[in-house]
Amino acid sequence: MAEINHAIKGTGDVLPNDSHRWQFLEKTMLETARLYGFREIRVPVFEHTEVFSRNVGDTTDVVQKEMYTFDDKGGRSITLRPELTAGVIRSSIEHGLIYDALPQKVCYIGGCYRYEKPQAGRLREFHQFGVECIGAGNPSADAEVIALANQVLCDIGVKDISLEINSIGCPTCRKEYQKALKEYFNSHLDELCDTCKDRLERNPMRILDCKSPVCSEIAKNAPVVIDYLCDECNEHFSSVKKHLDSIGLKYTINPHIVRGLDYYTRTVFEFVSGSVGAQSTVCGGGRYDGLIGQMGGNPTPSLGFAMGIERLLLLLQNQKTELPPDKKCDIYIAPMGENASIKASMICAKLRKDGFEAQTDICGRGLKAQMKYADKIGASFSTVIGDNELETNKSVIKNMATGDTLEVSFDDISEKLFSLINESALESLTDSIYKNG
Ligand code: ATP
Ligand code: MG
Repeated sequence: MAEINHAIKGTGDVLPNDSHRWQFLEKTMLETARLYGFREIRVPVFEHTEVFSRNVGDTTDVVQKEMYTFDDKGGRSITLRPELTAGVIRSSIEHGLIYDALPQKVCYIGGCYRYEKPQAGRLREFHQFGVECIGAGNPSADAEVIALANQVLCDIGVKDISLEINSIGCPTCRKEYQKALKEYFNSHLDELCDTCKDRLERNPMRILDCKSPVCSEIAKNAPVVIDYLCDECNEHFSSVKKHLDSIGLKYTINPHIVRGLDYYTRTVFEFVSGSVGAQSTVCGGGRYDGLIGQMGGNPTPSLGFAMGIERLLLLLQNQKTELPPDKKCDIYIAPMGENASIKASMICAKLRKDGFEAQTDICGRGLKAQMKYADKIGASFSTVIGDNELETNKSVIKNMATGDTLEVSFDDISEKLFSLINESALESLTDSIYKNG
């Protein structure tokens, strides 16, 4: 029975005291994306396995080791999405978005599932915000998508984040590069881990992404793809850099970024922070000009990025960034007795219709216990209804922080509460200005 009291390893709950932080991030992400013309798309959590592992030769960790794959009762192979790009592209082909006005700009927020070793910032269920810009091959698209990622990170309050970019070329320039890589790694064959020995034949570029300390040490001196770019890819990369320069976005070129999924081409990028410990990449993305063709659509140049929401929250916490506080209960109405309880429910209904968070007793508690509860939930104001209040149709509203009171009629309680809330907001603002000089 122990299992039913514990979430599965690598998964987590977002508790009510924390959910406003998630809501702030999600709202900001969608709003900022909208400024660039990206509209939300929602796709299923599970897909046919082939959506994610398109060819048997796929050599990435995500596809080879990390997927939650199972047969459903009808004997179909199903996979819980390890990322959203493949599902979004499947949907865009299926519903003809790629044949509509291009570019199609879509964004998403959703859960992802990867069988990884759980640790801080690395979970088995985690959430991504991401965008896909479908049908834009121009370097200005790369710069626009990178600028959007940067603005989202700024708007949620992330500090000291750096942008690293690279180009991993197209299938043409990669042929030469793969040859050079094979040669290099062959000279270190004995030292490579078993997985990388296998990768050497199938896709030597994946060795560059290996997390084993020995392999990553060897990878440090491997030839870099940027030296093997064809003329078109070189030109594309130069233009991306020019566009980034023109909007004042600082970047460093990291020739070692290859990204963890096989579908990337040309521009790849990451936003990296020193404040999340070992899991330092909070956002990763790039161009995937070959993916839509691979998935059966008309070849359509596209690109996107994804950022991990848990990793961002961890980063904001480590950087001690204050997010907007949760809104508290506006007023708690404490009734004494059955008739008062009915009146309290009626007043609550009116206040809620007028947009206030109003709460009253639904446990049949005495006055003392009710006030303790009002205090615990951080109600800004409270009022008590007893026989006297029922008779006069008035009650005394108390400011829970200052103890100040004001008698109001139930008929205009919304208007009065509205002014009280504004007055007390103004007072605390003046207080904090005074305190901070
Ligand atoms: P890493 O190198 O850290 O494994 P990745 O290259 O596998 O990252 P992507 O597939 O690019 O990650 O996913 C984009 C973002 O999603 C990452 O930058 C990270 O913020 C987040 N992310 C990826 N895997 C996890 C995970 N297991 N737990 C939490 N967040 C994750
Ligand atoms: Mg990974």
